[in-house]
Amino acid sequence: MELDKMDENDWKYHGEGNKSLVVSHLQHCQVLRLLKFPSEDSAHTRQQTAEQAFRHILNIMDYSKYIMKPLLGEKYVHSGEVVRLPLDFVRELSLKVQQERPELRCDKVMDTFSGCGLCLPNLTQLPLQHLRDHRPPICVEIKPKCGFLPWSRQITKECKRKVCRFCMHQHYKLANGKWKRLSRYCPLDLFSGSKQRMYVALKNLLEEPQNNLKIFKQQPDLSELIQHLRPYFLHTNGLFNGHQPGKAVLSEFVQLICSALLSGGDSNRSGEPRKMHISEGRVHCEASPFPRELIRNGNPGLPKESVLSKILQVQMLDNLDIEGVYPLYKRVEQYLEEFPKERNRLQVDGPYNESFMDTVKNGLKEDDGSVEYAVGKASLVHQYRVAMTAKDCSIMITFAPCDEDEENELNLENPGFTYSVSILDLDPKPYEGVPHQYKLDSKIVNYYLRSTQALP
Ligand code: ATP
Ligand code: MG
Ligand code: ZN
Ligand code: MG
Repeated sequence: MELDKMDENDWKYHGEGNKSLVVSHLQHCQVLRLLKFPSEDSAHTRQQTAEQAFRHILNIMDYSKYIMKPLLGEKYVHSGEVVRLPLDFVRELSLKVQQERPELRCDKVMDTFSGCGLCLPNLTQLPLQHLRDHRPPICVEIKPKCGFLPWSRQITKECKRKVCRFCMHQHYKLANGKWKRLSRYCPLDLFSGSKQRMYVALKNLLEEPQNNLKIFKQQPDLSELIQHLRPYFLHTNGLFNGHQPGKAVLSEFVQLICSALLSGGDSNRSGEPRKMHISEGRVHCEASPFPRELIRNGNPGLPKESVLSKILQVQMLDNLDIEGVYPLYKRVEQYLEEFPKERNRLQVDGPYNESFMDTVKNGLKEDDGSVEYAVGKASLVHQYRVAMTAKDCSIMITFAPCDEDEENELNLENPGFTYSVSILDLDPKPYEGVPHQYKLDSKIVNYYLRSTQALP
């Protein structure tokens, strides 16, 4: 990419989340990720200088590269690089993409002032050698959310030990008009490692994707999806069947996603993997539609190298729960009020480097009293923030059909496909977000209790 010769006509709208907007290059396998601001937060109140914006993006990249990548595994994370783009280009780009943006995202505007962005590989595509087939790759993005029940002693509401956060949050979101239908997806089913439960979880995501599932180049309509998928699954069960029933096509597709989620991250692995097990009580959610009596082989665990296991391990760094973290946060706040200069030493706003990583690891042994008081408390908060990032990330799985003869012999489970798995959206969660999380947690739990239990 030649930064001095950027042309908005080479880029198109790709997607966006709450914080950033992404455009993809028409020819190259690249995307640009640009930050967004609340639209009422107009230029004059936005005091941020270009230099501050640059630091902010650099922080995001560092956090992904030096904190999340070592924790989640080199092969899954692509941190990209910070780029300074010509302002003309960014302004033209912003005008060009505006009409393609979904209405519900237009409460924010793209940053056209700093010219800073992140350049990343386009993870919806596979490197060219896999693309000999005429069919384009199929790409699935899953935002799995938190995959375990908390066990912290600090928890005050018993239902948090029985019903997972996602399932409780659904009731709150429905009441607030965020979504019109309850999702039947439960993250604990997806993270269970049981193929049956994962299958049900993925089916439920397909039926009500909300913002937890996205299939690229596809409408969220099941019959259209089946039409699109049919040519990829012509040889199902060894029979040539051009009129494969829709149900069978979907079922093949869901199984394919399942095995990518349980694999070591690409299609070239084999052998019996080592497993990650978490204790029985934390793996089933009472609100899941999957019938408990059907859980046959209890708790099969996740292959250690699988993307789900990597994400779950980092999510579980949240071992105190927000109810345990909030009091520590307040103590650090008090300390910082007294000693404001300590903010830098405690790396409250970064930089996200090796020493921050050590702080996160210190959090793990804080209880033994070997760590200085404020550093110890702050590191537990940092550890919580890292877990929060893992609870909010997305998994991107890209499948490309491949010819029988170039098919990998080890890939017997998914004949006809090669794939790659990545993790994206690994931004740091702001330190100041803790009080908000604390309030939100109690709102969600209280609402859940009120809406599911009849009043006496
Ligand atoms: P959220 O609201 O989930 O926190 P966000 O604003 O932080 O989202 P991202 O999730 O990083 O933004 O990016 C928005 C969307 O852009 C993603 O959901 C994904 O579909 C797409 N995207 C981001 N990075 C890439 C990439 N490297 N390759 C392909 N698509 C990408
Ligand atoms: Mg996202
Ligand atoms: Zn649940
Ligand atoms: Mg994000």
